This record gives sequence, structure tokens and C-alpha cells, in this order.
Amino acid sequence: MYRGVKILHDPVRNKGTAYTEAERDYLSLRGLLPPRVHTPSDQELRVLSNIREKPTDLERYLYLVALQDRNETLFYRVVMNHIEEMMPIIYTPTVGKACQEFQHIFRQSRGFYVSIEDKGRVKEILQNWPHKNAKIIVVTDGERILGLGDMGAGGMGIPIGKLALYTACSGIHPTHCMPVMLDVGTNNESLLNDPLYNGLERRRVRGDDYDELVEEFITAAQEVFPGVLIQLEDFGNTNAFRLLAQYRNQVPLFNDDIQGTGAVAIAGVIGALRITGSELVDQKILFLGAGEAGIGIADVFVAALAEQGIPADEARKRCWFVDSQGLLVSSRESMAEHKKPYAHEHPPLASLLDAVKTLKPTAILGLSGQPGTFTREVVAAMTEINERPIIFALSNPTSQAECTAKQAYTWSDGRAIFASGSPFDPVKYNNQTFVPGQGNNAYIFPGVGLGAIVSHASVITDEMFLAAAHSLANLVNESDLERGRVYPPLSRIRSVSAKIAYDVAKMVYDQGLTDKVEPDDINAEIQEYMYRPVYPHYA
Ligand code: NAD
Repeated sequence: MYRGVKILHDPVRNKGTAYTEAERDYLSLRGLLPPRVHTPSDQELRVLSNIREKPTDLERYLYLVALQDRNETLFYRVVMNHIEEMMPIIYTPTVGKACQEFQHIFRQSRGFYVSIEDKGRVKEILQNWPHKNAKIIVVTDGERILGLGDMGAGGMGIPIGKLALYTACSGIHPTHCMPVMLDVGTNNESLLNDPLYNGLERRRVRGDDYDELVEEFITAAQEVFPGVLIQLEDFGNTNAFRLLAQYRNQVPLFNDDIQGTGAVAIAGVIGALRITGSELVDQKILFLGAGEAGIGIADVFVAALAEQGIPADEARKRCWFVDSQGLLVSSRESMAEHKKPYAHEHPPLASLLDAVKTLKPTAILGLSGQPGTFTREVVAAMTEINERPIIFALSNPTSQAECTAKQAYTWSDGRAIFASGSPFDPVKYNNQTFVPGQGNNAYIFPGVGLGAIVSHASVITDEMFLAAAHSLANLVNESDLERGRVYPPLSRIRSVSAKIAYDVAKMVYDQGLTDKVEPDDINAEIQEYMYRPVYPHYA
């Protein structure tokens, strides 16, 4: 145990002004701190007032990052006690802005960088990570950050933010979390022209070179941190689908943009059906955007119908896609592999509005990254077809949402059941207050990750995500639904995550997807594992 100024500079052990009188003597801290001992609540108050005085969310983000670097326990205390206020700062939408500005706001390095130039020595450099018991890695190559595109090395903000959510939402210990950026270059011209850009100054590597780096990284990660759970994050869709297919049966690995999004969106649809009173099998979903998110959601929908005995082919026919080329139809000349199962026989249609009018969907889900695409006409057409149209504008960050909450409620005369990817404030319309749900992946991945970590899952299956979707939908209560809210408030996120973790862990033990023996009490095991931001006592 070190003492004195060293302990004040260690974010894991630092308690700042909260060191007790006895600790100040024991740790040789006399004189190094102002005399008055403060409680963690006092410190929390100080942090909150500082954050709230900042003029912009990016400033708030920077303040919080600095706090995380200085006093991790206090950082998590503030984030967890004020999760609804802090999540939009440490994650979408503010984290998007932080990634765009990454090279300009850079102060202190966090996370781990593996670049294409490290090929051949990835295992060796992984030994430099200070925490030897990493249990979860969130890794990106920065190619498709939120709906913002290629941010190169600036994409590191996303794994950092997601792992902070793992800790805050499901209690994964901060030292078990490892954010990784695979720097394979960037095709973003403005980054390449920026002298302050801090990633590799080169265009993106593709093909064998790229694949070899990913293979080396995944193999080395499993060797250095045996059994580590790997979450693929914000990869471009040409790589995302194939990397998931390649590694999902080899190591514990999932792609949150595909599988996590699938689960959270279908949970929202199931929640919406509790308002409309209709059944999942009777839904026809029209997606705007046929990328990772859209296809991921459709796949979970198909899996949910399979549970009800509907064959996959039939279930897929209830999912339609409009992408940048119009309605996805089988006569299209060429299309990416992941789109093929959802390309149905139909004459081509150019616009979303035409598709709504022709196909008469019960739900439209926006995952295109294109703002303003759920127009007044589209919402009005959905309202003409459905008593309660389901309209989810899921693109992130807020600036990319297909429509705003206010637009959805006003253009549908208050009948839309609306959810979004980034948060929107409640909307007053016709003397009613609507509370839009946020289809935030943070409802799903922390719980799935916790369940997988606690049970030492050897692989992560689609069934686990479907189970998570059902758990989440069941945790929405009647008063949430009355206000149009299809997700529970984020303030309940810890208990939501613990329930999802239980369901996932139970599935892992029941299906023998682990070499660990099932404990007598899975819930107790989960609760015991969960990190809480409480200072240790020294003396
Ligand atoms: P992606 O790049 O894999 O796919 C984007 C899709 O949008 C592609 O199919 C593309 O053809 C289509 N598209 C582009 N322009 C279009 C246009 N004008 N009209 C119709 N379609 C168009 O990206 P992704 O991973 O699928 O993510 C898409 C969006 O969904 C992003 O904004 C992302 O932030 C958001 N997202 C939200 C959540 C959530 O709310 N929980 C989760 C994941 C992703």
C-alpha cells in the first residue's frame, strides 16, 4: 500500500477530501489536503453544482472525464445517483460530439490502442494493460460511430463511454473493463487533414491485413485475459456482420449494434403492444435503414416469432426495409449478404411514404442515421392506417433522429407510440404529457454482460438477447405505459440489469455453456459481484 501524494493521484484509491482523520495520519496525508473532512454526499453535491454550471454538454463531459481520471468512486457515485441526467453526457448524444472533437479535447489517454502497425506483437503489448483481470473488452475500429460515420481513433470515446455504462448500470468492476481502439486508419478527410488528429495518418486498411489484425487481437485477448467477453462496437457494416459470424461460436463475443439493438427495440415493440393490446404475430414492421441496427432488430423479431411457432421464412415476410435505394426487393440487382433474407418479391418503391401507403405497416422503425426522414406525411399516413401507430426514431445522436418526439406526437394527433435512440424531453400536447421512451441499448448490454461474466459464458447466443428483451418488456409497469413510455425509467436500470443478468446466467447454466457449476443462488452471486461506488477504509 502506498501513501502520501501517490494515493491522491491514484483514481481507484483516491477519496479526496473524504479521507478520515485517522486515514490522514495512517496514509501520511496530513498537510496534503484541506483540513475539513467531507462526506461523499458533500463531494457529490460539489460535483453536481460544478456540472450544472457548465455552459455546454461537452464541457460537462470534459468535467466528468476529468473526475473519472481523478476519483473513480466519486465519478460512479455521481453517475449512478443521477443516471438520467448523466447518461446523455457520458453517452449519446454528447459522446458523439466528444468523438468528433476527440483530438482537440484530448487531455489524458484512457483505454488501449492497438494499431495496424502493432501486427505481430499484439499479445506482447496487451501485457502493458495495468489490470490483469480484464473481464470485458469493448472494441471499435471507429468506422461507424453512432450515426456520425468514420471518426478514426476519435471513436475511442465510444468504448470508454460504453464501459462506464457497464459499471454504472450493472456493476461491472471498473478494473474489469478494457476499452480498445483498433486503429486501422481513417477515410475521414477532415481528420487526415487535421494536424492534431491522434490516430494513424493513413487510409483504412481492408482485406487480409485487416482480418489478420482482428484475428491476432481476438486470439491474444483470450490468451492474456482468459474467457474475456468481447463486445464489437461501431464497426462499419461490411465488417460488423462477418466478424460477428466468424467469432461468435469461438469465443464469448457479441455485437451490440446488431444484437443489443435488436433486443432493446423488440422490447420496445412488445411494450408498445401492451398499450395497443395487439400481438407480436400481427405486426408488420417497416424499417428505414437496412444496416446493423435494422437487420439486428428484424433478426430478434424473427427469433421472437419462432418462439411462438412461426417459421423464420414467414416471420421475415412481416419485416420490410427501405434503405438508401428505396424498398428492398428481391429484383434488386445486387445487395449486401445481410439484406438478402429480407428482400421480398414486390415491385420497387422509391420512397418511405410510398412504402407506408402500399405495405400498411403497424410500426416504422428508423435506423437510417438520416434526420427528417419521418416527415409529417409519413407520420400522418401511419396514423391513418393505425389507431396507435408505433413510430420509433432510433437514429443517434439526437441530431440524426428521423423525427423528434414533438413531431411524432403532434403530427399523429397524440396517437403515436414513440421511442427514440437519444433522449427527448416529455412533450405536452392537447393537455396531455407524453413521456418518450429511449430505446437505449444500455437497458440490455450491461445486464447481458453481467450475466455472461458471472456465469463464465463460453459463447453469447441470440436466445440470450431475446430473453433480455422479454425481461425488459416485463419490467415496464402500468404507470409507465399510461404515459406512453415503453421502457422503464433509467433510474431503475440497476435492478433491470440484475434481472436480465439472472435470466442470461440461468440460460448459460441450463444449457451448459460454461464449465462453471451452477451456484445455489444465482441472484446472490450476481449481487455479490456488482460494484458499488463506496470508498474503501484504510487504517
Ligand atoms: P449502418 O451504417 O449499418 O446502416 C445504415 C443504413 O441506413 C443502411 O442500410 C443505409 O442504406 C441506410 N440509409 C442511409 N441513408 C438512407 C436514406 N436516406 N434513406 C433510407 N435509408 C438510408 O448503421 P447502423 O448500425 O444500422 O445504425 C443506423 C442508425 O441507428 C445510427 O444512427 C445509429 O446511431 C442508430 N442506432 C440506434 C440504436 C438505438 O437506438 N438503440 C442502436 C444502434 C444503432
